[in-house]
Amino acid sequence: MATLTLHPGKEKSVLRRHPWLFSGAVAQLDGRARPGDTVDVVSHEGKPLARAAWSPASQIRARVWSFDPDETIDHAFFKRRVAAAVARRTALPELAGQQGLRLIHAESDGLPGVIADRYGDTVVVQLTTAGADKWRAAIADSLHKATGCTRIYERSDVEVRSLEGLEAVTGWLLGEASGDELVIEENGVRMAVDFVAGHKTGFYLDQRDNRRRVAELATDRRVLNCFCYTAGFSLQALAGGAREVVSMDSSGPALAIAQRNLALNPQLDAARATWLEADVFAELRNLRGSGERYDLIVLDPPKFAHTAAHAERAARAYKDINLSALRLLAPGGLLMTYSCSGGVSAELFQKIVAGAALDAGASTKMSVRIVQRLQGAADHPVDLAFPEGDYLKGLLLQVD
Ligand code: SAH
Repeated sequence: MATLTLHPGKEKSVLRRHPWLFSGAVAQLDGRARPGDTVDVVSHEGKPLARAAWSPASQIRARVWSFDPDETIDHAFFKRRVAAAVARRTALPELAGQQGLRLIHAESDGLPGVIADRYGDTVVVQLTTAGADKWRAAIADSLHKATGCTRIYERSDVEVRSLEGLEAVTGWLLGEASGDELVIEENGVRMAVDFVAGHKTGFYLDQRDNRRRVAELATDRRVLNCFCYTAGFSLQALAGGAREVVSMDSSGPALAIAQRNLALNPQLDAARATWLEADVFAELRNLRGSGERYDLIVLDPPKFAHTAAHAERAARAYKDINLSALRLLAPGGLLMTYSCSGGVSAELFQKIVAGAALDAGASTKMSVRIVQRLQGAADHPVDLAFPEGDYLKGLLLQVD
């Protein structure tokens, strides 16, 4: 096995159990390692620290598999880590019976580059790093053993793989398509999951609890759901007794599934739903001119900043939509607003939204209060040693 020696002082982050080793921390690599191979990580003095996956093409040159420098990284290692991740979910009552469940949340479950989402008896995996890519077979077998699922599909077609010098890979790792549409029930609502062509692994599981919150809040309200994707928030609003739900997204295919999802739930009043294929930035301004007002607005945009370097541009985009949304709220209205940008901290997000509220209030005397802080569901945990994993933050605001 090759040995990766760190520059003096660069062992500190490893000792704090942070799993990333950037190129600037690496002094030298002794021995031969191909992309994804396991390397021994040692301090400048040669003290063994960890075992990590080598990613020569990436600025994150290595990602730690184990902080025990003696732990063997083999099939049995993945079996243990995958079983532990699954057990972590089973132990939480709100997750135990979920048909749609994130089983492995990458670094936060001790498996950098590995995402696994379960939809009924199908598991969809996404491998984003050279190390994860190398252990594909062990990961798939471990998922099969830990869950009993006989269908495992790979959706490793994300952009970040190119930073690792990896091509896109998709297809069945175990079993095959049943021919049936994949449908899960979430908070009592049936949702189709397009795991072959949908975003991420097909569905945004991280918003499960927040969607249920919308059901609680929506009763008798006029709801506007921006960036609706396949209508997760919209259908929860209908289930909660919303008077009317307007849903907006720029993706035609997402809206087609959204309407299909509504049809899968005959208990919901379809006459209360309206769909708009539109750019949210432009459409919110149009709506303002039309005099429409809403009692509850959901803003769940895509990632605007991939890293902190893009935070400024992202801040302008967040401010724009939050300002527009605040102006569309009826007196006493609620705004549920999110950022899933890793490069925008919860603190910065709150500042941006406060700026939008100040501008919105300048002409209307509106005042805005945070009534709840929101985050991802418990199957998307954040390892305290890895704050980068804390990507989803939201605010529930009440205006008057
Ligand atoms: N709230 C959703 C997930 C939203 S994902 C859920 O609970 O499932 C973000 C969505 O924003 C995607 O569906 C994408 O198609 C859409 N989108 C991205 N940019 C957009 C824009 N400028 N205008 C409208 N929709 C946009």
